[in-house]
Amino acid sequence: MSDHGIDGRVALVTGGSRGIGRAISQELAAAGARVAVNYRSDHDAAAETVEAIQSAGGTATAVAADVSNEADVDRLIAEVDAALGPVDLLVNNAGIFDYGDHHETTVQLWHRTIAVNLTSAFLVSWAVKDGMIQRGYGRIVNVASIAALRPRPNSIAYAASKAGMVGLTRSLAEGVAGDGVRVNAIAPGLIETDILADVDTGVLDDLVEATPMKRIGQPDDIASVTLFLLGDGSNFMTGQTLVASGGRVMLP
Ligand code: NAP
Repeated sequence: MSDHGIDGRVALVTGGSRGIGRAISQELAAAGARVAVNYRSDHDAAAETVEAIQSAGGTATAVAADVSNEADVDRLIAEVDAALGPVDLLVNNAGIFDYGDHHETTVQLWHRTIAVNLTSAFLVSWAVKDGMIQRGYGRIVNVASIAALRPRPNSIAYAASKAGMVGLTRSLAEGVAGDGVRVNAIAPGLIETDILADVDTGVLDDLVEATPMKRIGQPDDIASVTLFLLGDGSNFMTGQTLVASGGRVMLP
């Protein structure tokens, strides 16, 4: 096993209980990180993820908190600190998705999406960044989306929240680059998780057809890139957004 330089480090994965976050939590634990698995309400899924990590010989603990809520984030960080120690590796992964055109994009949907997908990344990053700077070591990965990079008429608020994440990544990365803290983002394409439950099968089939690799992605496809961005293999990279989409989006 290669530990990617993160063996013994404390990782916090927001929304780490299911889907992409679960795969990331397991991948980081397998590389030796001690992992805090955050979730909002699905206690059973979080317990299952922690159990899977522990039975594979890793260290993990589950912490419930709504990361769009400042008081919850403060409590989350305090609980992680008490259980595992200060956070070295942060993955801002928690997110929600709604499918619908501009007629269905209400101001309530807008506020909720920005709060859960974007303000959460700000709140959790700000709760840990000063400690990272003081210790001279920290890595943050923001799970954005290819929706940040292309027009998305059927998920306008989501696309805006993810574009905001890319902006947050670049600006914070430059601000802390001299302090031993790296901040990067990943932009996944279509990944097979519960978040797609409300999207018609026909729409998903069309998206797979529009993917040069002709397949839907799996959570592990994103976990491996996240590990790379957190690990020593990407030591000269900060402020970047890596696309993992089966070729659906190709940046120059
Ligand atoms: P998922 O299977 O629906 O899992 C979402 C996770 O986020 C769950 O652990 C959930 O916890 C947690 N969560 C939601 N709201 C939260 C909140 N307010 N506070 C704390 N945790 C919260 O979603 P996924 O597909 O794995 O998505 C993970 C990330 O990848 C999201 O940011 C998503 O936008 C991004 N992404 C996904 C795709 C895709 O096609 N799947 C593509 C591009 C980007 P509970 O279960 O307790 O609610």
